[in-house]
Amino acid sequence: MIKKVLIANRGEIALRILRACREMGIKTVAIHSTVDRDLKHVRLADESVCIGPPPSVDSYLNIPAIISAAELTNADAIHPGYGFLSENADFAERVVSSGFIFIGPKAETIRLMGDKISAKEAMIKSQVPCVPGSDGAIPEDEAELKQMAKDIGYPVIVKATSGGGGRGMRVIEREADLLESVSLTKTEAKGAFGNDVLYMEKFLTTPRHIEFQVLSDKHGHAVHLCERDCSMQRRHQKVVEEAPAPDLPKSEREALGKILVEACQAIDYHGAGTFEFLYEKGEFFFIEMNTRLQVEHTVTEMITGIDLVKEQLKIAAGEVLDLPEKIIPKGHAIECRINAEDPVSFLPSPGKITRYHPPGGLGVRVDSHIYSDYSVPPNYDSMIGKLITYAEDRETAIVRMQGALTEMIIEGIKTNIPLQLKILEDKGFQKGAPNIHYLEHILKKDS
Ligand code: ADP
Repeated sequence: MIKKVLIANRGEIALRILRACREMGIKTVAIHSTVDRDLKHVRLADESVCIGPPPSVDSYLNIPAIISAAELTNADAIHPGYGFLSENADFAERVVSSGFIFIGPKAETIRLMGDKISAKEAMIKSQVPCVPGSDGAIPEDEAELKQMAKDIGYPVIVKATSGGGGRGMRVIEREADLLESVSLTKTEAKGAFGNDVLYMEKFLTTPRHIEFQVLSDKHGHAVHLCERDCSMQRRHQKVVEEAPAPDLPKSEREALGKILVEACQAIDYHGAGTFEFLYEKGEFFFIEMNTRLQVEHTVTEMITGIDLVKEQLKIAAGEVLDLPEKIIPKGHAIECRINAEDPVSFLPSPGKITRYHPPGGLGVRVDSHIYSDYSVPPNYDSMIGKLITYAEDRETAIVRMQGALTEMIIEGIKTNIPLQLKILEDKGFQKGAPNIHYLEHILKKDS
């Protein structure tokens, strides 16, 4: 039994976790930095602990401070949310060795899937389709490297095995650029991740990004909760997400879903997880697994009616998954990320929100921690909330989102709402998010 959860995160996701705990009768502990004492979930939590100054390294990434807060408040379990320490295997290990439950998979699973080369190897073993590329790390020898790129076929992409957040990768169009690009990416990877091991893949030119949500318990039961399409990206960052993926044949969902359920069992996965794929010309290619809750989990909740955070808590407590073997999605859901940023220059726009009016109505969900007079601090990610609409079909979900975006009033800071409206009005998007480069293409057209 879990009686008290420490929420090791901030903002909308901390509030989301708090709400699930509250419904399950679980007490909550909020931790926060000095600049975050007015966060909504801090006010709503049963207890709160200030764990340090604003910089993340001193607060939300400060493992000893978080463990001390859990000890001080007698929490049973720690939920890491997304970002921050959520995919840090050392943190998961420390949580468990300090006597708490980590709400997520085992540290060894996080480590296996966090290293992209070992993740790919594990997936290949489970028959999960992967992007053609190097088997493991790229060779040191220049001639071998050139031959490898030639065999894979240009354009290729080199990626840091420890990379994340869209960083540590580079597309190479021709052999003349190969050596310099590899060397640059190695230097960047070493600086950003402390590990310069790279691998190489075929660069797919017009794929969609389609990912599958899974839940897997500690007793060998796993299910998939269908897919999400997250093709609308800027600089590898998702901007709009939806579920299910437009026009994906049911048979393809079922075939891949079955393989992924087996993969979860093969790696003894515990908790909620996401398998990310590029999808091109009717074929799926695995790129990575996220061993945590994702920002866009909401759209899956809307089409399945399953509360993913509650499921995470139940699995962590050792309960047996109590879901049908086959989950049938219903309707269509879209999520727009609402960021405190200039809609044209994309520069962050922190500051005080002087007026806030959230939208509402049937099929409109707002996951956000903001309120009138709340000050968005400059220290963290610029996402201040998520607007989700749900309807019986995609067309209605789009119209509903357009209405909701128009109704949403946030004054005092700049937001990307104008950009989101533009995306929703775009004919190409309306036909079905075409590919991962499409949003950049719309943006370029306008500049
Ligand atoms: P990260 O962990 O940094 O998010 P991913 O491996 O998930 O890295 O890749 C992030 C994004 O980079 C993908 O969503 C896609 O847009 C692009 N990408 C990665 N690998 C490839 C590839 N082989 N071909 C084309 N695009 C790719």
